[in-house]
Amino acid sequence: MITRIVNAKDGLDEAVSLIRSGELVVFPTETVYGLGANAYDAAAVKKIFEAKGRPQDNPLIVHISCTDEVRDVAREVPDVFYALAERFMPGALTVVLPKSARVPDIVTAGGDTVAVRMPDNAVARELISRSFPIAAPSANRSKHVSPTSAKHVYDDLNGRVPLILDGGECAVGIESTVLDLTSGSPVILRPGAVTAEMLAPYLGVTPGSGKVIGTAKSPGMKYEHYAPAAEAYAARSAASAAEFYDKCEAEGKNPVLLFRDVYADALGDRARISLGGSVDDFMHGVYSALRAAEKEYGVIIVEMLDGDGRAASVMNRVMKAVGGKTV
Ligand code: AMP
Ligand code: MG
Repeated sequence: MITRIVNAKDGLDEAVSLIRSGELVVFPTETVYGLGANAYDAAAVKKIFEAKGRPQDNPLIVHISCTDEVRDVAREVPDVFYALAERFMPGALTVVLPKSARVPDIVTAGGDTVAVRMPDNAVARELISRSFPIAAPSANRSKHVSPTSAKHVYDDLNGRVPLILDGGECAVGIESTVLDLTSGSPVILRPGAVTAEMLAPYLGVTPGSGKVIGTAKSPGMKYEHYAPAAEAYAARSAASAAEFYDKCEAEGKNPVLLFRDVYADALGDRARISLGGSVDDFMHGVYSALRAAEKEYGVIIVEMLDGDGRAASVMNRVMKAVGGKTV
């Protein structure tokens, strides 16, 4: 199969035809690129698992183009969903609800719940509104780092998908927050750019009241996602990173540092890929930096961020990418 990369707006009509005829389309979103198919078509969705090499027990997110569409894919929609939608949709928040009969089992990995998100990308929403709700995981080969550019997708899926809509770099840079509303009290299954602190006021959780939003493991989170091809470590400080770098260098291992610019002086002239200045810059750039680093270097050493909120969400992904190894 020939894989073409087309500017998102120019390729939209063709993407609509492909989705309507049961084929795959890669589309841009603000989190990471998605590998999509008609969510109501089990045979089309099966192609997603084949193209990615994804285990069948890892469910997909169903992408919708407007709030009302949630009723087509979920059989019960609590009021709190609409309160959350008002504030966070479109956006990097996925909500888990009881699934409707229209959504085939392959989408939800046989489960009775469906994950729903409205992406903050006009072309993605138009693709959906002109076809169907679109089931999509990240558009990488299974277990690799998620893609934040069309080129990343091409590197992983060339020959496996007909069309990649190129919408430039993803603004957010890590996968959406997954919030489960089906288990009594709200539970964050996967941390992301929308944090527990941001969600609390909409979930009837008062900060300081002692009530907290739970955390648990999302089905997909048991897999070693996000792993780069090179050996990788998270560094507790610039000093420990510099020391480990020098050791790797002496052993001829060709290391690189992924750190924000505040550490430029501390790290000196050691090889470094910049993660920008802020936590949001780090989130935006970390997958791209991991993909660039694995191509050229033997050992990747990533800055560890302190703190909760978004810093903790990015660290959730970094710790997966490094397989929990720290220096
Ligand atoms: P990806 O977009 O590649 O990160 O894959 C989608 C992820 O969404 C899965 O790995 C799960 O973590 C999560 N997810 C999808 N459907 C459900 C569901 N019904 N319940 C809980 N989590 C889900
Ligand atoms: Mg993924």
